[in-house]
Amino acid sequence: MTARATFLDRDGFIDEMVYYADPGVVDSPFTPKQFELVEGIGPALRAIKAAGYKLVLVSNQPGMAKKHLTFATFRKIRAKMRRLLAAEGVELDGEYYCFHHPQAKLAKYRVDCDCRKPKPGMLLQAARDLGLDLAHSIMIGDGLNDVIAGKRAGCKTILVANLNSLLSEKMDETGTRPDFVARNVTEAADIVKNNLMEIQTR
Ligand SMILES: [Zn+2]
Repeated sequence: MTARATFLDRDGFIDEMVYYADPGVVDSPFTPKQFELVEGIGPALRAIKAAGYKLVLVSNQPGMAKKHLTFATFRKIRAKMRRLLAAEGVELDGEYYCFHHPQAKLAKYRVDCDCRKPKPGMLLQAARDLGLDLAHSIMIGDGLNDVIAGKRAGCKTILVANLNSLLSEKMDETGTRPDFVARNVTEAADIVKNNLMEIQTR
């Protein structure tokens, strides 16, 4: 029997997005100091793990390609993430990152790759590496790209978001329908637990 996993988005799900007032955009943290866990993520991930799912991070990180940060800084941010999660009793089973961007300033990352979500490359690679049963795995994230990548990989999907008219417009435009919508990480963990019970009683 193969393992099942939850594929986890990083920025906006595990850690808070950052508002940059100067260009007026919301983006990933570019410094370790900006990296803070989302409220409730520790207990949520512990509950998901206890329900029998591996925790596999799948994250687009085009910040180096766009020259927002260096790899040295990325490594420090990653170390902080692992330290904060460990303090919550959470250890990830896998971490997959896409560093590419089609309009990268750095030529070596200017690639139309197969790993950048909404493409499913990172999920498929993780499935090969970790022996995962994709049909019984779940992609969880705060963006429609997460939902699309999850569906393309054949997983169930949970969108963590507050539904509003803008989001439902985007869902209509892209024809994207998550299997579940959760308002926060705690609700997402509850859905994972309940979904598991459903599968077991079948
Ligand atoms: Zn990529």
